[in-house]
Amino acid sequence: MSQSPSLAFEVTERPDRLAEAERNVILANPGFGQKFSDHMALAVWRKGEGWGDARITAYGPLQLEPSAAVLHYAQEIFEGMKAYKHADGSVWTFRPEANAARFARSAHRLALPAMEEEDFLESLRALVKTDLDWVPDSTTGEASLYLRPFMFASEAFLGVRPAAEVTYCLIASPAGSYFSGGLKPVSLWISEHYSRAGIGGTGAAKCGGNYAASLAAQIEAGEHGCDQSVFLDSVEQKYIEELGGMNVFLVYKDGRIVTPELTGSILEGVTRSSILELAKELDLTPEERRISLEEWRTGAESGEITEAFACGTAAVVTPVGRLVWTDGEVRTGPEGEGGEVATKIRESLLDIQTGRAEDTRGWLTRLV
Ligand SMILES: *Cc1c(COP(=O)(O)O)cnc(C)c1O
Repeated sequence: MSQSPSLAFEVTERPDRLAEAERNVILANPGFGQKFSDHMALAVWRKGEGWGDARITAYGPLQLEPSAAVLHYAQEIFEGMKAYKHADGSVWTFRPEANAARFARSAHRLALPAMEEEDFLESLRALVKTDLDWVPDSTTGEASLYLRPFMFASEAFLGVRPAAEVTYCLIASPAGSYFSGGLKPVSLWISEHYSRAGIGGTGAAKCGGNYAASLAAQIEAGEHGCDQSVFLDSVEQKYIEELGGMNVFLVYKDGRIVTPELTGSILEGVTRSSILELAKELDLTPEERRISLEEWRTGAESGEITEAFACGTAAVVTPVGRLVWTDGEVRTGPEGEGGEVATKIRESLLDIQTGRAEDTRGWLTRLV
């Protein structure tokens, strides 16, 4: 069982909260990651002292020395979660212990200090309670308050070693439907020049550096008329790994849904694991194994593979319409809208998260 938090986030409310009318304009059409709630959580870790200085304060610019290690050596990790306001006004989040555990694993890989699960959860509770009015009503659509915890080397020091001062921060951003106007399939470009991660690297950690490494491929995707890149394994350039920020599933005609097995260079998504668990109840057979690019191409051509989708907290489930490479492309899902299976999985997850369906697995944790 979880312990009680050792950090108390002391709340200093800002006197100049955004006026209700203005906030409601934002909540009516929040977009994604553009607007932020009134406050943020902060805590500072110092070598020899541990975590302290935990507080909720006005959202605003951070003071950082130009020599802060994160700006030079990218010692940084983050998480992505959502808070949902249910019909009775209570606010819940989805499997936060999985995010806390991943945050701890990422911290270990990036030589950052561990944060106790209970302290991580306490920061979520404290911020969401302070900015409760910023949590959109999740009872009908899929609106939520996106939560972004992150941790970075804030020590002002240019030597290369794990920082002796680290800052933890949590910000919150109202999020509407990722797809305004219905599910729109994305097209994927197969990156042959760039890898996202390699064996022994940081692929399994949620760190900003992985995202920086994925951006050149993203540009390449755009140049080929695609929305995103899908990365192959860095050794043989043969097996599917994932997108820059989402895991991937293929749907087979016989009801199997297959996702690449975790290799150490793939990020273990909470959405991915939840879909694997939900599959049986939706009459699907989950499978984790290596998938070659060739299998995807030929399966999509023959009709053996009927759909493909990407998944992650931000967009939940995103159908994939086309798979494109240097000298060819194949359709890998229905045109115009998402396939049946992707839509069914998406709805099931959202129904649990937003409180429209019963949470039989104890996946939800109440924040407020
Ligand atoms: C965050 C992330 C995902 C999705 O993880 P969720 O826990 O489902 O949000 C997938 N791939 C990468 C590289 C990620 O950073």
